[in-house]
Amino acid sequence: MPRPAVGSLIALEGVTKEFSVRHGRRVTTHRAIVDASFSVGRGEFVAIVGRSGSGKSTILNLIAGLLAPDRGAVLYGAARVAGVNTCVGYMTQRDNLVPWRTVWGNLMLPLQIRHAPRSERPRLIESVLRRVGLTEFSRHYPAQLSGGMRQRVALARMLIYDPETLLMDEPFGALDEQLKLSLQNYLEMLWEERRKTVVYVTHDLGEAIALADRVVVFAGRPGSVREQIPVPFGRPRNIYALRYDPAFTALHRRLWEALGSPEEDAVQRQVPS
Ligand code: ADP
Ligand code: MG
Repeated sequence: MPRPAVGSLIALEGVTKEFSVRHGRRVTTHRAIVDASFSVGRGEFVAIVGRSGSGKSTILNLIAGLLAPDRGAVLYGAARVAGVNTCVGYMTQRDNLVPWRTVWGNLMLPLQIRHAPRSERPRLIESVLRRVGLTEFSRHYPAQLSGGMRQRVALARMLIYDPETLLMDEPFGALDEQLKLSLQNYLEMLWEERRKTVVYVTHDLGEAIALADRVVVFAGRPGSVREQIPVPFGRPRNIYALRYDPAFTALHRRLWEALGSPEEDAVQRQVPS
């Protein structure tokens, strides 16, 4: 089993995760992830790609401490993750905004949790709202916003909480191409500025290449680490120009091949009882 690199902040060591599903009186157990190992360095931006159902969200849930592995270990810092990991901010696939609070109220929540000085709170909220382009919507409730706008509020909420590590699960999937590029660009800038550790799940290979230092390819069913490929582009990056670079196309193709075909996934996932 590969040991985590020196200076790694997050490490998965031989992680297997199973889920039991009840069908009436019968319970079947499925393996979601089998023997997955990889690590993430402090300040590194790692993208996880893989097709739907390959276990990407499960990986983030394990790092966030919302799930525990059935075999193997999940380490954060030098310690095993046991219970909710408060060092991470988690932007889940669904936005999880509080429906009875306005945008402003949703962004106030992490500041209250963090005990940020009261006098600074309005300024912090205004600044993050400007960043995500939602200044005019501060008094709206989540139900009054489009899916893309809600995702931007969720991004703002994570940023305002200011965690050491950002876990992001297909955060910009619902956005139109232009907005997506602009938020990717913003995230890249933010990373330059603050050097957060980021684990970014996406099925968009172009997005993974544009943003990450390294791409971890999840493939198969159950999912496992198929390949880990460093991204050869330096920083700061021009997210807009990058996709016309021949090295971008070559890497895109390599990732595509590493993902494997759906036929390979037809391997029996059910755990024999
Ligand atoms: P991805 O994010 O790559 O689409 P997931 O991590 O969500 O994949 O899921 C991996 C597999 O585990 C899927 O087959 C999914 O159905 C199963 N799974 C995930 N969460 C649960 C759960 N809470 N209960 C039962 N099965 C689950
Ligand atoms: Mg998912």
